[in-house]
Amino acid sequence: MAIPPQEMPQQDPKVRAHNMNEVALGYTAEMAKTEASRCLNCPTKPCMQGCPVAINIPGFLQKAAEGDFAGALKIIKETSLLPAVCGRVCPQEKQCQKFCTMGKMLKDVDKAVAIGRVERFCADLDRENSAGKADKASAGPSAPRTGKKVAIIGSGPASITCAADCAKAGHDVTIFEAFHKCGGVLVYGIPEFRLPKAIVRQEIDGLKDLGVKIETNYVVGRTRKLKDLVAKDGFDAVFVGTGAGLPKFMGIEGENLNGVFSANEYLTRANLMKAYLEDQAATPFWHGKKVAVLGGGNVAMDASRMALRLGAEKVYLVYRRSEAEMPARREEVLHAKEEGVEFHMLENAKRVLGDDKGFVNGLECLKYELGEPDASGRRSPVAIAGSEFVLDVDTVIVAVGNASNPLIPATTEGLEVNKRGNIVVDPETNMTSIPGVFAGGDIVLGAATVILAMGEGRKAAAGINAYLSKK
Ligand SMILES: Cc1cc2nc3c(=O)[nH]c(=O)nc-3n(C[C@H](O)[C@H](O)[C@H](O)COP(=O)(O)OP(=O)(O)OC[C@H]3O[C@@H](n4cnc5c(N)ncnc54)[C@H](O)[C@@H]3O)c2cc1C
Repeated sequence: MAIPPQEMPQQDPKVRAHNMNEVALGYTAEMAKTEASRCLNCPTKPCMQGCPVAINIPGFLQKAAEGDFAGALKIIKETSLLPAVCGRVCPQEKQCQKFCTMGKMLKDVDKAVAIGRVERFCADLDRENSAGKADKASAGPSAPRTGKKVAIIGSGPASITCAADCAKAGHDVTIFEAFHKCGGVLVYGIPEFRLPKAIVRQEIDGLKDLGVKIETNYVVGRTRKLKDLVAKDGFDAVFVGTGAGLPKFMGIEGENLNGVFSANEYLTRANLMKAYLEDQAATPFWHGKKVAVLGGGNVAMDASRMALRLGAEKVYLVYRRSEAEMPARREEVLHAKEEGVEFHMLENAKRVLGDDKGFVNGLECLKYELGEPDASGRRSPVAIAGSEFVLDVDTVIVAVGNASNPLIPATTEGLEVNKRGNIVVDPETNMTSIPGVFAGGDIVLGAATVILAMGEGRKAAAGINAYLSKK
């Protein structure tokens, strides 16, 4: 307990709010060792219960504390395929670190062992030292060829994991991705300043080294129907990992005015279409000066911080509950505040105001208070009658959630979905209502997290491998 928690070096908030470089700079080897040595190696391993893929956390921390970072990474990779990604974006304070005994003893989850940061260090060190050579050397299908063909639809974390595990089992795997680049939300949603795209690229290169074929600009349901992949193209099994990319809106007056965006569109233009490289990218972009972002999750944090980097002078984050109820990762909330995003808690948009040419020129909001807990377990927001006020804005970004992509269910007869549009799967195998068709990630769970999507991809791959071994 005498060893102080190791702070992660980061870019100065005033500087980073105007550049796209990664905010958190990562530990040095000495810091990673010191932080790992704070682990008490509890016999009950409570941290592992908080990890959706049950990484042997005390095991890898012990190796890291000894300076054996390669050994630590080996342990992490037994259960997690994307440690450089998860170390950066997992909501550790709600998962592994929430249950850490050190954090409990110090009565502060921020003082728990920084498991994610050590994980990130091990993965980054390996990447820097080997430039991917270590992975490449061990790449290539490790099992004998089965002669079976697997189609993977989408290329987010669920699909990357499923593709890797199917390729390693000896199947002939092809990814079909609607966009021109692979990676799903990791490339189109989460910004460069939080997750450098070089990391995602390397994961995709790793798949190619395993023999996975990739077809981009291929929209299953339009370019080809899912069932034709089986009936006409000879695929023996299909995995659907198409995510939750359908933005939800508020349904309020003025939402169709010029200057109102879904966070998905805003971030996709900025990240995937590189609108921030104005001299190089042809992507048209809207340069709001006074921006209101509606929502309190990671998407809202990313959109607000992106707006600052794209030249906004004022960014207001409008959230109808209080900060305690915010679903965003704690680190993103702190970073957004440090960078100058103005938090408007217990407020919500009532209508978007526009000028006579149809452009946004204000946001009418209401103040809220917290009532009784609702179905989500969080205290529900209750509008205060007569509390209307107007925020002076020219841009509104709506980040109030995403629903499942509807195209595949709509174009695939017999594919069962629940009332939210999520594909229904067998919880053991992730097989859908159509034999040989599996699904996982956000399209099954609804908008969730990277690590849960990865866990689903792995479970589905096990289901596919078992199914094909009997076929
Ligand atoms: C802005 C943002 C920030 C986030 N931040 C975090 C975070 O900090 N931490 C965290 O854990 N989670 C975060 N999440 C959630 C996380 O990214 C998702 O839960 C995760 O990416 C889901 O993975 P997936 O593989 O199911 O789908 P996705 O990553 O959504 O990938 C789906 C892919 O399928 C493709 N596709 C869709 N339809 C078709 C089709 N018909 N044919 C072919 N391809 C298709 C899409 O183009 C996409 O590439 C964030 C999400 C967003 C939007």
